[in-house]
Order: sequence, then C-alpha cells, then structure tokens
Amino acid sequence: MEKIVRCPLRWVLERHGGSEVGALAAVTGSLVHALVQAGAAGADGDELEGALRSAWARLDAGAPWFGRRELERVRGMLAAFEGWVRTSRAEGLRLVAVEQAVQLDLEGDEPGEPGERAGRPSGPWLRVRGRVDRLEVDAEGRPVVIDVKTGKTAISARAAAEHPQLAVYQLAAALGAFGRLLEPGVKPGGARLVYVADQKAGGQAKEPVQPPLDDEELAGWEKVVRQCAEDTSDSHFIARVGPDCDRCPVRTSCPLSASGRPVPDP
Ligand code: SF4
Repeated sequence: MEKIVRCPLRWVLERHGGSEVGALAAVTGSLVHALVQAGAAGADGDELEGALRSAWARLDAGAPWFGRRELERVRGMLAAFEGWVRTSRAEGLRLVAVEQAVQLDLEGDEPGEPGERAGRPSGPWLRVRGRVDRLEVDAEGRPVVIDVKTGKTAISARAAAEHPQLAVYQLAAALGAFGRLLEPGVKPGGARLVYVADQKAGGQAKEPVQPPLDDEELAGWEKVVRQCAEDTSDSHFIARVGPDCDRCPVRTSCPLSASGRPVPDP
C-alpha cells in the first residue's frame, strides 16, 4: 500500500526483481519475526536463544566480526521487544492473536459507475489480504494492530499518523475483517509500529503510533485503497515523482529519471 501510494511504477518494478534489499537484512528481519512469534507462543528465553544460535549457525553472515556484531544486534532487538511486551501489558494492551491472517473485501462499483462502464463486473471486486504481526485489544476493548519493524530508523509520529499500512489495518478492523476475534461493530483503537532495532537511550523500542481513525478518516482511507487497486490493475503504471526518487532502486528503468530515459531512435 505504502509503495503503491508513493509510486505505482516503483512498486511493480521492485515486485519483479528491482528491489535492492540486502539479503542478510531480509533474513535477519524474518528471523526476528519468527522468534517474536515463538515468544508469544510460550517459548522462554533459553529456548529463543537456542533457536537463534541454531539458525545463526546455518547463516552466512559474512566476516566473523560482522556476523558477531549482527548476532548481538538481533539479541538487542529481541530484548527490546521483550521490554515492549512488558510495558504495553502494564498499559492495558492484551494479546488476541499473532501472525493473524486478515482479509478485507470491498464492494465493487454500482451499475453505471466508472468501473462498471470500464467492463469490470459489479459486486465484490477488491480483496485485500495480508497478515498482521500482532492483534491486540486496549483497555477499552478496541483493536490495536501492532507491526514489528526491524528497520534501523523509526518513522516520525507525523509519518505514522499518515501511514497507509497502519490505516489499512484500522480499516480492516473497523469493517470486521478479523471476524470473530473482535466484538462486532467495535471501533479501532489505533495501530502501532514497534521498531526493535531503533531504541531510545534506555533500550526501549521506539513506537510510532497512529491514533484511532474516525469514520470520516476511515472513509478517506477506503478511497485510497480503491485508488491503489485502480493504479495496479491495468497494464500501465504511473511514475509518480517524489522525494525518494534520488534513492529509488529502479530509477534506471524509469522514464522520468535522467538515467532511465529511453534511448532515442537513431
Ligand atoms: S525514480 Fe521516482 S518516479 Fe521513477 S520509479 Fe522511482 S520513485 Fe517512481
């Protein structure tokens, strides 16, 4: 969602091999998520350490000094997550599910509306599927989706308030996409990112929060979701210039970038 909103062309090219995410960073991220999940399922500290050592022994982390440093970094992330679990329980959050699948179906266009005229069938036509790291409820019984991030730099509170992924989680909760896990008709209680690799001075994970969205904001985000579907369901993809273009990994394939312009005919 976030990538589509920023630039549909970048989204499609990265999705088909244009991404430059480091292999080790991706593996480390998956490992931390798996261990966090194991912790939620009841594994104790020794079991998590054993699982981490066993996985790390099979991983090529490069030079030994680098591997040791990365291993310590992973341990630091797990400790930060444990700390977050403790403080968030004290604050009133309660775990409902981990790695929870979510599916949101949005109704299609009415007969005569633009999509219908373009030949798309009316009725349900947009399905958003995903998986949330943790579904929790707050002290008031409202759902709060938690997304664990292993990136090195937390986003700002302002960016979190406008974060498409978090907004879709709230929209999904409000429209009943978590089924019987939540009370029918319950209003969302916000969504949070937990940056286990970006810690405060005291070692706590930074936690940018998206406050609860009201009905008007949810309706606005539903429009954004529909627009994302429009932007990615055709054979044309818009190149949308933005502040990240200079660092875009697919700029050499982008017609709006000097390095990606087509070679003119001789
Ligand atoms: S360079 Fe900018 S406009 Fe082009 S694909 Fe990348 S993000 Fe999109």
